[in-house]
Amino acid sequence: MDSYVYKFIDTDVDGGAEDTELLGSKGANLSEMAKLGLPIPPGFTITTEACNYFFENEQKFPNSLDSEIKKTISLLEKNLNKTFGRGDNPLLLSIRSGAQESMPGMMDSILNLGLNDETVLGLENITKNRRFALDSYRRFLQMYGDIVLGIEHSRFEAVITNKKRIEEKISDVELDENDLEWIINGFKNTIERFSGKDFPQDPNEQLRDAISAVFNSWMNPRAITYRKINNIPDSWGTGVTVQSMVFGNLNENSGTGVAFTRNPSDGTKKIFGEYLLNAQGEDVVAGTRTPFPLAKEGKTKGDSLEEAMPEIYKKIEAVCNKLEKHYKDMQDIEFTIENGDLYLLQTRTGKRSARASLKIAVDLVNERLINKQKALLRVKASDIENLLHPNIKPGTRKELFGKGLNASPGAATGVISFSAEETEELSNKGFDVILVREETSPEDIQGMFSSRGVITTRGGMTSHAAVVARGMGRPCIAGAEELLINYEKKTISNREVVLNNGDTITIDGTTGEIFLGELETVDSEPTEDYKTIMEWADQYRRLKIRANSETIKDTEKALSFGAEGIGLCRTEHMFFEGERIIYMREMIMADTEQGRKKALKKILNYQKDDFKELFKLVQGKPITVRFLDPPMHEFLPSGDLELKDVAEASGISFDYAKEKSLRLHEANPMLGHRGVRLAISYPEIYKMQARAVFEALIEVKKENKISTELEIMIPLIATGKELSLIKKDIKKTCRKIEKKHNTTIEYKLGTMIELPSAALRAEEISQHADFFSFGTNDLTQTTLGLSRDDSAKFLEEYIDKEIFHEDPFSSIDIKAVGKLVELATESGLVGNKKIKIGICGEHGGDPKSIIFFEKIGLDYVSCSPYRIPVAKLSAAQACINGE
Ligand code: PEP
Ligand code: MG
Repeated sequence: MDSYVYKFIDTDVDGGAEDTELLGSKGANLSEMAKLGLPIPPGFTITTEACNYFFENEQKFPNSLDSEIKKTISLLEKNLNKTFGRGDNPLLLSIRSGAQESMPGMMDSILNLGLNDETVLGLENITKNRRFALDSYRRFLQMYGDIVLGIEHSRFEAVITNKKRIEEKISDVELDENDLEWIINGFKNTIERFSGKDFPQDPNEQLRDAISAVFNSWMNPRAITYRKINNIPDSWGTGVTVQSMVFGNLNENSGTGVAFTRNPSDGTKKIFGEYLLNAQGEDVVAGTRTPFPLAKEGKTKGDSLEEAMPEIYKKIEAVCNKLEKHYKDMQDIEFTIENGDLYLLQTRTGKRSARASLKIAVDLVNERLINKQKALLRVKASDIENLLHPNIKPGTRKELFGKGLNASPGAATGVISFSAEETEELSNKGFDVILVREETSPEDIQGMFSSRGVITTRGGMTSHAAVVARGMGRPCIAGAEELLINYEKKTISNREVVLNNGDTITIDGTTGEIFLGELETVDSEPTEDYKTIMEWADQYRRLKIRANSETIKDTEKALSFGAEGIGLCRTEHMFFEGERIIYMREMIMADTEQGRKKALKKILNYQKDDFKELFKLVQGKPITVRFLDPPMHEFLPSGDLELKDVAEASGISFDYAKEKSLRLHEANPMLGHRGVRLAISYPEIYKMQARAVFEALIEVKKENKISTELEIMIPLIATGKELSLIKKDIKKTCRKIEKKHNTTIEYKLGTMIELPSAALRAEEISQHADFFSFGTNDLTQTTLGLSRDDSAKFLEEYIDKEIFHEDPFSSIDIKAVGKLVELATESGLVGNKKIKIGICGEHGGDPKSIIFFEKIGLDYVSCSPYRIPVAKLSAAQACINGE
């Protein structure tokens, strides 16, 4: 029979991948810590399989679950000498969620379970603290009412507020035992009134309800959103940990906190964390009270744990060391101090900023805890992307508005919004938004994700806002306490300045500063750790990495990131600027070969000069120049002004230009007269381009002594015949120019494979090609029959319904598009053993797709400049994982 319950100290649980799958990471880690002999309040985990059973069987528990729980609780009672739901020394439990990957704050927990009218007296008796016992009972009633019964939090708050008003008391701590008794009765009435049943005194019923509620929280909207953002499958389910309570709110010799074994913002090897005395778990992470630091460094107020409780601090240090040695990674622990004794409630791999992620990976190698391959696997693609986040340009004039904690690095500019929903709405409309809140809660997750950056006026470095923003790579300033938010008026103010909803600010999450207005930002300088990781990635990858680039700026950027050539220079993109676009339109709209030639002549010199600049920059590295592929609708004149310009340049009337433009309009331009089809109709276009590129090559060689590894690429080929015709023309042009300049020209000629027909006829096509480059943007469009330009409208639904796991334009659809890529690679090599094969669609910079391209043995991937570092890392990871 399957077992659904595992005690933390069960010896067959060693925290391996299977255990994490079965128990969730919290449960598996508690088991591991118990085995390491660390001080863990005893308890057990209910498996993710039980959760999945629950959802598959109309919210019923598996048959054996109740009896397994009962048996394990009896063992707990025996070991701890406590009784569940009765007696003088009651066993109280915490019930928490814990999925395979931690989802901070997204699901529900219930504390102090097991309290009832009898055990509250027992708790008073054992702690000799009636107020504490009553306060724990009212907290439990509130959590039970809210989480299990779904009664709004505010109903309970209203009871407390009412009592404070009657007694003329201001804060909760002033409430005495009589007040708390009154509140407890009030809460019981609230529960009865809004749920229609009495609060259950039976602890087994409480426990059953609480476990169901935690299971159900796996499906609450914020958990679903979090999973979507982080690509966590719904099918995992959550484990539930049931643990005997320890109390950080027992007295002033008690407390609770979180500790990272290294600094999660910059990666420094020093314990980092926060604590609160006389407080219970959620108080620290919720950001409702500003906690104190653990370590004393830089603080003189004497409020660090190191100063307040030096013995406990030392114990935490020892625990951190032990955990790091065991897990070989930075850990994030939650601890409670109960009357001077330290307990650990959980450990997990600590979330960290991109900068910290790289530093920790490199440091762990230097400390000989992991090897280089492991270090490379530890760094996430998003870390690399986030590390290249912009910073405020040095020397920029700045006007400081406020300052808070530098919770997540990077600079961002945007308009202020005070609500998560509005942030999402504005961002969907294309605005950059800075989300400003007193504190964030898990409900704000989508808004945080849509924002450019986050500010909170309360909470510390481990508050919800700080942890989540760091994980998402959004700059964040937490606890900017001098600033005042007025949600009603939608303002945030310092002593002098009031900012309104929609005003623009710039935040610097690296320093914690908030500035007025929009400030210029620049890319961050790569750190030494970044360089080291990139060096290691270069050692372990096989795939070459090229850039998609046609401008000087992008090419410089790409080369600075270590691009090994240009894999796609889209020549039509070189014609968007100034008068060039007019000549381009003149060419498209010309009626005769002569008219086209006239326009092409004007374009020729621009082309040649652009190519010369690029060739000088890439200096001997390969450069793939793709000949014109203008989807007609992107180039036709769209308004009267543009029509007028073209009419003038072409020497035709405005009306004729208008008429011609209407005639050229295509109903389906993506499948229209573009790519090679244009050159089949009008060979002079590619001939002009061939001339421009060859002459540029000759001149750069002569003037700059730079030889160019030129690759000419023909787009939208469907058949071998098309390529052979074009090849002939280009060869002819080449001969002519060789003759004119009395020289020889070396170049390769290849084609994009971006139509299913090309993939299916790859063997035939490869006989005319030196190389293939998969245009997976068009190949996705044409294989799946999904418009590149229009499908976003409904693709989200397809992803929600798991028809596709991801947007197939971002991550390759392996089953259909991938299959064609694989087939074309194989048959291309049959037709031409020497053929070089790469990919230059957007998928070239996508980590998951790169794993696939590595697997099928492509030679290179080409992607946009900013994705080059990610592509290098992913290529190395693909090799390491494939070993
Ligand atoms: C492609 O189709 O994948 C490609 C790179 O070409 P473009 O995006 O220019 O159509
Ligand atoms: Mg294409």
